Amino acid sequence: MNTNGNKVINIIHNNAKFSIDTASYVKKKFIQMGYEVTDVFDFTADLVVCIGGDGSLLRMLHTYQFPDIPVVGINTGHLGFLVEINPDEIDDFLDRYHAGEYFIEEINPIEAVICTRTDCINAFALNEIVIKGDLSRTVHLDLSVNDQLIQRFSGDGILCATSTGSTAYNYSIGGSIVDPSLQVIQVSPLAPINTNAYRSFTSSVILPSNATIKVNPEYRFEDSIVIVSDGMEHRHNGIVEVSLKLSSLNIKMLRLKGFEFWSKVKEKFL
Ligand code: NAP
Repeated sequence: MNTNGNKVINIIHNNAKFSIDTASYVKKKFIQMGYEVTDVFDFTADLVVCIGGDGSLLRMLHTYQFPDIPVVGINTGHLGFLVEINPDEIDDFLDRYHAGEYFIEEINPIEAVICTRTDCINAFALNEIVIKGDLSRTVHLDLSVNDQLIQRFSGDGILCATSTGSTAYNYSIGGSIVDPSLQVIQVSPLAPINTNAYRSFTSSVILPSNATIKVNPEYRFEDSIVIVSDGMEHRHNGIVEVSLKLSSLNIKMLRLKGFEFWSKVKEKFL
């Protein structure tokens, strides 16, 4: 809210012409309705409108470090699973936002603490964190849950998905779609090796929200694994441990009243 008591809106869009045009239309309409639309991202704003696809929404969250502001997406992209509003529903969305006909779904991202021999770095993801080999090598990873060693994994890598990310990369590798009311971490193998030489789980493992997962790489050829959070790569030399858990950060997704997750799954996947 600004000093005149008007709500403040951030509008973020990707570089596609349709997204740019949609952003100008939404900006004009918000201003006509008495809202202030920022030129520079305002971390105290009332709403972020993200125009593009799911990828644009993920990039916005990472660019602005998972801001504590309600977020809504307008889909000018390809799939648009996370971004809720279709371009032909913009006027209806604006009316319903103005009338307060929405609710906020709070989502905890997944957090990784990546420790090298010298320091530790945090990474966050709305969908998933993947730990895999750089340079296409097989990785050997000791996977512990709550400090108990569960398996020595060998294969391409391990993917740890939030419930929100269960419909993304997780789904492509045979993981389960999870109802968003369930706060879990789904750990799935990427091309696990199962031979006399190596044994790994071939299915996903579902862990409760308070579980702490530790992954300790065992290096055989070279000293590099790569950590990918929501498609963004983090490279650090000498990673000795990656700890993962659900973060206490809250992403506030604005949902119009009547939003129903499984209808969305049916519409986008079947
Ligand atoms: P991207 O092109 O931005 O996204 C790849 C596809 O995943 C797009 O169609 C995107 O939708 C969709 N997507 C993203 N989040 C989703 C969600 N929560 N539920 C359903 N679909 C979702 O690719 P990127 O920049 O490499 O990485 C972004 C995300 O893509 C990652 O977080 C990962 O989940 C996913 N990804 C998937 C695969 C795979 O399925 N093999 C591989 C790498 C990454 P839009 O078309 O609306 O953007």
